[in-house]
Amino acid sequence: MATTETTCVQGGWHPGDKDPRQVPIYQNTTWKYATGESMSRLFDLEESGYFYTRLANPTNDAVAAKICELEGGSAAMLTSSGQAANFFALFNIAQAGDHIVSSSAIYGGTYNLIATTMARMGIESTFVSPDCTEDELRAALKPNTKAVFGETIANPALSVLDIELFARVAHEFGVPLIVDNTFPTPVNCRPIEWGADIVTHSTTKYMDGHGSAVGGAIVDAGKFDWMAHAERFPGLTQPDESYHGVTYAEQFGLGGAFITKATAQLMRDLGSIPSPQNAFLLNLGLESLHVRMRQHSANGLEVARFLQDHPRVSWVRYCELEGDPYYELAQKYLPNGSCGVVSFGVVGGRAAAEEFMGRLQMASIATHVADARTCCLHPASTTHRQMTDDELIAAGVEPDLIRLSCGIESACDIIADIEQALDSLSA
Ligand SMILES: *Cc1c(COP(=O)(O)O)cnc(C)c1O
Repeated sequence: MATTETTCVQGGWHPGDKDPRQVPIYQNTTWKYATGESMSRLFDLEESGYFYTRLANPTNDAVAAKICELEGGSAAMLTSSGQAANFFALFNIAQAGDHIVSSSAIYGGTYNLIATTMARMGIESTFVSPDCTEDELRAALKPNTKAVFGETIANPALSVLDIELFARVAHEFGVPLIVDNTFPTPVNCRPIEWGADIVTHSTTKYMDGHGSAVGGAIVDAGKFDWMAHAERFPGLTQPDESYHGVTYAEQFGLGGAFITKATAQLMRDLGSIPSPQNAFLLNLGLESLHVRMRQHSANGLEVARFLQDHPRVSWVRYCELEGDPYYELAQKYLPNGSCGVVSFGVVGGRAAAEEFMGRLQMASIATHVADARTCCLHPASTTHRQMTDDELIAAGVEPDLIRLSCGIESACDIIADIEQALDSLSA
C-alpha cells in the first residue's frame, strides 16, 4: 500500500496509456449508450457505469477514491458540503423514531443539524460529554439508537475524542461509530484504525486548504456487519422498494452497502453532489495536504507555546501542550501532530477578545478555519451566536474563546502579529 504522502499526490486517478495525467474535469451531466438495454443494466445497479452526474461523475469518483485510500476505507463518496456529509452519514441509517448519540463537543452546524433539524424529522438525540466514561456513554444508548457520533478534534472546542472508547461502547451495542475527521485529516489521524466505522469530512477545511470550494466526504470502513444487526438497520438489510427491491447489504456486501445506499437513495432524492469543478479544486488541495498539514501543525504548536507564556493570555487550549486536558489522548491518537487550530482567552474576557481581533494585521477575521492563510474567529459572537451561554459551555466553547487558525506562513510572522496585537491592548 502506498504511503500517505504518495497517495495525497497520486491516489485516486490512475491514467492508462495516453490518458490525461491530471484528473480531468468531466463537466457533463449525462452519458450516451449504444442500446437501451445497456442503460437499463446501469439503472438496475447490475453494472457499474455513469448515467447522471447527480448520482456519480468520474471526476468526483477519482477524488473520493483518493480520500477513501487516505482513510483506509472500502468505499467513499463526495458531497457538496460537510453538512451534507454528516447529514447523509446519519440519515443513511437513522429515520423517524430512531435515536442518535453524539458528543456535545462538535461543530455548531452539526449540533444544529442533530439537535434541531433531525429532531424535526423525528430523529431524537442525546448529547454526551466527549470526556464521558464508558458507563456514561452506555447509559446514553437506547434500544432505538442507530449511531454514535463525534469529532476526532472538535471544532472549535479542540477536545480530542477517545475513539477506541466510543467505538467499543458503540460496537458492544451493535451500532456504528461515525467520526468527523475534518481537523486532523488522515495525514494526522486515521479513525478507522482505532475502530471508527464511518468517517466524514468537511473538505472545505484542510483538504481543500485554500478557501476555494465548499465540500464534504463520507468514507465507509467496510467493517460494520449490518446483517449481524439486521433488525436494527432495515434500510440496509431489507429490500429497497424504491430501487427495484435491491437489498444493499446482500448485493454490495460489507464494503459497499453503506455508500451504495447513500448514493442510490439519498443522493438520488436529496441531491447535494459537488460540481466536478469543485472536486478538481479539492484534488489540487489534496495533492499538497501532507506538506501543508506538517506546517499547520508545527505552526500551531509554536504559536500555542508562545501564547502560553504571554501575560495577556488567560488560557490556551492546544492538545499537544503538556498540561492540556487532552494531551494524553493526543499523544495516543495524534503522535505526528494535530492541526493548526489553537484556542485561547485574553485577559479582560469578551471585550478584550474583540479588541484583540481588531488589532490583528496579518491574520484575517474570517468564519473560515483550516486555510493556508492565518485567520481568526470569536465564535460566541459569530458561528455559535444561536447558542445560550450554558449551551456554549456544554459544547466546550467559552464565551471569551478566540479560535486562531494558523496558516502555513512563517511561524515568526504569525507570532509577531499576535504579539503586537496583545501588546497594544488597552490595560
Ligand atoms: C466546517 C465543518 C463542518 C461543516 O462543513 P461545511 O463544509 O461548512 O458544510 C462539519 N464538521 C466540522 C468539524 C467542520 O469544521
